[in-house]
Amino acid sequence: MDVPAFLPHLEGFRIDEYTATAERITLRVAATAATAPCPACQLPAQRIHSRYARTVADVAWGGVPVTLRVQVRRFFCGNTACPRRIFAERLPRLVDRYARQTGVRRAALQRIGLALGGATGARLASPPTLPPPAPAPPPRPKPTVRRIRQRFVERGLEAALDRQAPRRAYARKLDGAQEARLVAVACGAPPVGRKRWSLRLLVDKLIELEIAEEVSYQTVRRILKKTT
Ligand SMILES: [Zn+2]
Repeated sequence: MDVPAFLPHLEGFRIDEYTATAERITLRVAATAATAPCPACQLPAQRIHSRYARTVADVAWGGVPVTLRVQVRRFFCGNTACPRRIFAERLPRLVDRYARQTGVRRAALQRIGLALGGATGARLASPPTLPPPAPAPPPRPKPTVRRIRQRFVERGLEAALDRQAPRRAYARKLDGAQEARLVAVACGAPPVGRKRWSLRLLVDKLIELEIAEEVSYQTVRRILKKTT
């Protein structure tokens, strides 16, 4: 299904499925572009490695919360000279890489917050009945304690202390925080239908969770050996 004109922030996506109840509207969406530029070499890639789903909160419709299940594709970079083998497509117009809500929703909540002050705004916005989407995403907000804490939880101490995400674009090895997250994943429950984690499942999970953009089976094996 094509995206209707009243959802301009979903331009470039299609709606594959939707469910609606009185409590929640859920849209399964996917980007329609046949190719995606490799973030390392910028060459468009078209061979798909795999897909995964991100769950992202969007602006409410008529007071009913909207959840997007965004199908994200991982591509093989076809450029043999490129250090990146696999990458996940970027969706900057819709949602930032680590965000749990669309840019439009974040902007709407920020406007409410600015107008009313934090606590009142947050109360009024939940359940959200929000003004129409902003035409453009706002500038990045300054880090707050909450954001720093979230960064610490998600990406470790170094990332929390540094505003920039750790550079991992070309890193074939994992840094300490990434290793710790790998071990946490490997110690957790395996995917549904699997008895245990395989190296391949772990590598896919690291890329899916955006813990690393590229990592070899050998690296994963070496780290797990070291820690067990
Ligand atoms: Zn590339």
